Amino acid sequence: MNRIGHWISNKMVLGTSGRSGVVYNPATGEQQATVDFANVAELDAVVAVAKAALPAWRATSLSRRAEIMFRMRELVDANRKEIANIVSLEHGKVPADAMGELARGLENIEFACGIPALLKGGYSEQAAGGVDVYSIRQPLGVVAGITPFNFPAMVPMWMFANAIMCGNTFILKPSEKDPSASMFVADLLRQAGLPDGVFNVVHGDKVAVDRILEHPDIAAVSFVGSTPIAKYVYETGTRNGKRVQALGGAKNHMLVLPDADLDMAADAAVSAAYGSSGERCMAVSVVVAVGGIADPLIEKIKTRIPNIKVGPGTDPSSEMGPLITREHRDKVAGYVKNAASEGAKVVVDGTAKAKDPGYFLDPSLIDAAKPGMKCYDDEIFGPVLVVSRVGTYDEGLKMINDNPYGNGTAIFTRDGGVARQFQFDVQVGMVGINVPIPVPVSYYSFGGWKASLFGDQHMYGPEGINFYTRGKVVTSRWPDPRTSSVNLGFPQNR
Ligand code: NAD
Repeated sequence: MNRIGHWISNKMVLGTSGRSGVVYNPATGEQQATVDFANVAELDAVVAVAKAALPAWRATSLSRRAEIMFRMRELVDANRKEIANIVSLEHGKVPADAMGELARGLENIEFACGIPALLKGGYSEQAAGGVDVYSIRQPLGVVAGITPFNFPAMVPMWMFANAIMCGNTFILKPSEKDPSASMFVADLLRQAGLPDGVFNVVHGDKVAVDRILEHPDIAAVSFVGSTPIAKYVYETGTRNGKRVQALGGAKNHMLVLPDADLDMAADAAVSAAYGSSGERCMAVSVVVAVGGIADPLIEKIKTRIPNIKVGPGTDPSSEMGPLITREHRDKVAGYVKNAASEGAKVVVDGTAKAKDPGYFLDPSLIDAAKPGMKCYDDEIFGPVLVVSRVGTYDEGLKMINDNPYGNGTAIFTRDGGVARQFQFDVQVGMVGINVPIPVPVSYYSFGGWKASLFGDQHMYGPEGINFYTRGKVVTSRWPDPRTSSVNLGFPQNR
């Protein structure tokens, strides 16, 4: 069986801890690889490598860094299909969906190619007599990224592209469930000419994460994953003096007003709820139906569900693949099975057709979900869409704002005034207006509010550049020696 080691100094290095995990093919249930798990000593050794690579990389010119990232852009572009297949085999999402993930990841690499413009500081001439003041942004040092299973190619690209272009060296701890995409991308960075030690991959579990969070030579940690772990990573990392951005889970509401185009809303709800089997942090998981449109909207969603082709990524006609593990599939099915006893109404039950040995689950639709029911409150992270009925726009808005999560939301309406009011009032970080999955383009930044993000900088884009650098302000004077004198007063800008 294939054994996946760590990526250190531009080559794969087998682990020595004796601990490892199993990588499954979720479409067949077969074990297809083992992945080595790092212990504390191995993590420390990688940090030492990244630290040693830092001085030369920091001193590398912006144009040389950009040249490497341009080459990386070409390599990822040329290998889209190969990476998509790797993602599909370990994650289960169909290759067409994995290609979408790659396209969005590539955007971040393209954004980072503009680093010479992105790192420009400010300059004030003659701030005082003969005195100029300017600001520069410098890298933090060794930084780490910890990523989830659901976007094994894209989320690492959210992080490393900007981090290394800013002059940091980087350690990635990808999800242990689908680690191969990171290894493939690491080799592309090598081929692009990235010097040894600038980008490293360490596999593992809590042991590796905990060491990252306490290691004194790691300056910052970017995390994407579930809310309890995001909170833990933020609290532990910041307690240890690190800069941390930790993105968590979600429960994304799609508010549909009575004037919306119902076919468009139904298409959007089905696509955004069941795409990638609902294993997206920006998936629509609650449709909030306002007034009398609930019945016709549910009917339209219901008629679309049987057309979704559930199957393995190896079948080109498949549109929705399996879930990541058997345990997760069974947990998701449990929400549907319990929904009726909570007082909700199961309109489409996808659990009957759960196929073994792959971790497949057909789409489910639940009506009359309310806060207080587990099918509404929990992030299910599977192909389960719940509908909540409200009487008015205000009730719908309140429901969204009362929810502890605040990652993404969408409003479907033909009324621009109401949409604008929604954008103004809603307590959510990313908002779609007739757009169900409003993932910002790479030159904006990605991040939720409330329990969907711990920290104060969103990921990638301009906030990513801020996160991976710190500001320095220089006050400089090249005086005429004839004007020099002793002055014990506090400097005044004259
Ligand atoms: P997860 O929290 O289980 O794992 C994320 C990372 O944390 C992995 O690398 C994992 O190895 C590590 N980890 C897991 N348990 C840990 C522990 N006890 N201590 C230390 N480290 C630990 O998340 P997942 O199941 O891989 O991914 C799905 C979750 O990620 C969902 O909640 C989803 O909403 C969220 N997500 C959020 C975003 C976002 O941008 N907000 C994007 C993608 C996924």
